[in-house]
Amino acid sequence: MKAIQIKQPGTPEAMEFVDLPVPEPEPNEVVVKISAAGVNFIDVYNREGRYKVAAPFVLGQEGAGVVTAAGKDVKSVKPGDRVAYTGVMGSYSEYSAVPADRLVKVPKGVDDRQAAAAMLQGMTAHYLCHDTYPLKKGETALVHAAAGGVGLLLVQMAHNIGARVIGTVSTDSKAKLAREAGADEIILYTQTDFETETKRLTAGKGLDVIYDSVGKSTFEKGLNLLRPRGMMVLFGGSSGAVPPFDPIMLTQKGSLFLTRPSLLHHIITSQELQARAKAVFDMITQGKLKFRIEHTYPLAQAQQAHRDLEGRKTTGKLLLLP
Ligand code: NDP
Repeated sequence: MKAIQIKQPGTPEAMEFVDLPVPEPEPNEVVVKISAAGVNFIDVYNREGRYKVAAPFVLGQEGAGVVTAAGKDVKSVKPGDRVAYTGVMGSYSEYSAVPADRLVKVPKGVDDRQAAAAMLQGMTAHYLCHDTYPLKKGETALVHAAAGGVGLLLVQMAHNIGARVIGTVSTDSKAKLAREAGADEIILYTQTDFETETKRLTAGKGLDVIYDSVGKSTFEKGLNLLRPRGMMVLFGGSSGAVPPFDPIMLTQKGSLFLTRPSLLHHIITSQELQARAKAVFDMITQGKLKFRIEHTYPLAQAQQAHRDLEGRKTTGKLLLLP
């Protein structure tokens, strides 16, 4: 089978298109024939070696496809079932072995591409606005990179809750997409100072919450925009890591809350994984959540997919189609 393997972390060229044997399932595993693999920023961090993974490894942590073989202890799924998963390394591949308790069955009405997109970015958007800071109708949220993979989903969910959504994006075409997803206000943060503009838009009242995946270039200014006891949800660093800072700043800026959450801690148990995936799948089948899947690539072009993602050239979801 074909797969994208990392032997030495590094630039996109570190991703090698190789031939590997089709995996055999362990007793608790199934083998999934991958039809769509999600490309996510975490794959860039893993490729670069920012997060340590023992090499060699097959990249990718999000996939959807069909079960082709099941280990002897597996009861929850069987060959032929359509499934999706996240949080297990190895989806940039034609086949991957996945622990059965990490799989969700994909319902009718959700295609494989939507399922792949729902698992990492969809469930992330879901936990951010339902658990990390449970957003309420009438509250105001700032969503950075609002036309990105997580961004477009989070904007839709926040809008559906009835919150006022302010989004930041880098270009006019991204602004249009974020508006269509339900953002009430858009700031082109590469041209306009988002701190000044957000203060104007909130008339000095302050934001209830900021969902910040951009990090280095946005974090510190964001702390000036929250209402007293508002929450900074820092969930990524696509512009780079936030430098260390003194927690006394949180007091000085209004007894703020700061959290740095990860999806993995919001799908720890099988029960939570199934419930969260179902919530996202239900939004899809009820027409409340739309995916923008414009950027698809053959597996062999994984390097280009990473260049496009890192180069801010993409909107919505990127998928590899093995
Ligand atoms: P996106 O599709 O959002 O792509 C990243 C976007 O970040 C770009 O399109 C760009 O939007 C913006 N950006 C701002 N500055 C830069 C920069 N210097 N270089 C590159 N991009 C920049 O990616 P994802 O949706 O896959 O992920 C978004 C972030 O969320 C990542 O940091 C990721 O690690 C994190 N994440 C965290 C999770 C968690 O549970 N903690 C789970 C999933 C993702 P624009 O051009 O509009 O500025």
